[in-house]
Amino acid sequence: MIVTNDFRSLWAEIGPEVLAAVERVGRSGWYVLGREVDEFERRLAASWGLPHAVGVASGQDAIEIALRSVGLRAGGKVLTTPLSAFATTLAIARCGGVPVFVDVDERGLIDLDACREALLAEPDIRHFVPVHLYGHALDLDRLQALQRSFALTIVEDCAQAIGARWRGRPVGTVGAAAAVSFYPTKNLGALGDGGAVLTAEPSIAARARVLRHYGQSATYVHDELGLNSRLDELQAALLADVLLPRVDAWTERRREVARAYGTGIRNPAVKVPAVEARSESIWHLFPVLVEGSGRDRFREHLRQRGISSGEHYPRLIPDQKALRDSGRFEVRGDLVRARRYAEGEVSLPIHPYLSDDDVERVVAAVSDWEG
Ligand SMILES: *Cc1c(COP(=O)(O)O)cnc(C)c1O
Repeated sequence: MIVTNDFRSLWAEIGPEVLAAVERVGRSGWYVLGREVDEFERRLAASWGLPHAVGVASGQDAIEIALRSVGLRAGGKVLTTPLSAFATTLAIARCGGVPVFVDVDERGLIDLDACREALLAEPDIRHFVPVHLYGHALDLDRLQALQRSFALTIVEDCAQAIGARWRGRPVGTVGAAAAVSFYPTKNLGALGDGGAVLTAEPSIAARARVLRHYGQSATYVHDELGLNSRLDELQAALLADVLLPRVDAWTERRREVARAYGTGIRNPAVKVPAVEARSESIWHLFPVLVEGSGRDRFREHLRQRGISSGEHYPRLIPDQKALRDSGRFEVRGDLVRARRYAEGEVSLPIHPYLSDDDVERVVAAVSDWEG
């Protein structure tokens, strides 16, 4: 079976190094927020070209902590996308924020024209959580223009886009802060949960450090209601020693696979969304759109040829019961392109362990589907 995440091959590559790191942390006798976390934060920030990284327990917590660190308060409106992991909106909701959804563009990323309209219509929107979905970079020049025109505070959700660039500029460097996830399926995936807040602003980093640790500003001094959202030494050691040093090579292989799919797949019933040349994607996922109502049949066709696939995401966030029940959100417009993704998107396998033969099999299977 050609799988969507090949954790067995990952272990075959990194197992011995993981065990060595576990041994070192085990012997150290220090397991939460210590030297390993400090060192990983330093290396992550350096590799990103930002001065501060703060390790936390998950990508969702990274978004919540970043939003609270930049001053989002209960009742504040937050512009965001209806097509993402639910965690993006859940983090906003956990701050007491009110998500405002606008449609996506042809690539499935939040439509920056729709954002401008929303910001003109609702000047009380002060915060914005854009998502660099599928590993593609949003247009950072336009993001920066929106930030300046509307004096917005932006937290970039980079959970799927660590290392992606727009015209050479890394994602996560326009907003006041960026949030990343080390969930195992992500491009920089740990062997468990983890996340980080990145920022150029020392005061935001300092606030994030307080919030991740019970809101404790000094030992047993709690000035605000924080979280328990610490990165542990084991995950930090694995990330620093074993995973971060490999991520660029892994991305390179993902790009080769994406190129092969992009040039090889020829099927009028399966649309490969055009990608911007200026977006240097890291190809977290490889989305295609199936015409009409053929998604289940298409996925079954792939399955019969030994190919797993995914859907990102089959239900829009504002259609989720949890959010409906809360009643605390706004939708602007009809979200017609987002619905097109929710109904027809299929994610083809893309990861560093696909062989050339696997890639050819996927191209052939997609191309000979009869729709
Ligand atoms: C995975 C993901 C998250 C949440 O990260 P966790 O580590 O699972 O909490 C948030 N946003 C996006 C776009 C994601 O893909």
